[in-house]
Amino acid sequence: MSDKILNKGGCACGNVRYKTIGKPEHSAVCHCRYCQLRTGSAFGISVYFKSVNVELLSGDLKKFEYTTESGNLVATKFCVECGTSVFWNADIFKDMTGIGGGTFDPPTFWYDIKREVFCRSKAYFSKNEIDAKFETSPIFNKIKEDPPRKSGV
Ligand SMILES: [Zn+2]
Ligand SMILES: [Zn+2]
Repeated sequence: MSDKILNKGGCACGNVRYKTIGKPEHSAVCHCRYCQLRTGSAFGISVYFKSVNVELLSGDLKKFEYTTESGNLVATKFCVECGTSVFWNADIFKDMTGIGGGTFDPPTFWYDIKREVFCRSKAYFSKNEIDAKFETSPIFNKIKEDPPRKSGV
């Protein structure tokens, strides 16, 4: 019953709680500016599950939408009470939900990080042993110009 692996997580104030079923479809460390701005930190940890395997148990989320340099619409969802960035949906990853890797409890970082993306805006102190490293991402296809504040280049 390995597909019944259950993990839970939530936001800082505890109003938002969720559970996931099974294993993530993929996971990555992302150094893009969108993740830096979303988290207020050096990088984001993206853990993607099939949306049917993610269940919001409690709490209210507010949505913020933006379009990336590749023209992909992303909707980030954060706790209305404490602002923790919990979920997001990207139109390139249909039927998937991205979960902020730091919101799982307890923070054992149990998921297997497969790749590191957007190293072009990676912090100098962020060193790790992830083998697959990309300056942008394998699916990057720039169609618009972001200002340096948002692109990092
Ligand atoms: Zn909260
Ligand atoms: Zn990112």
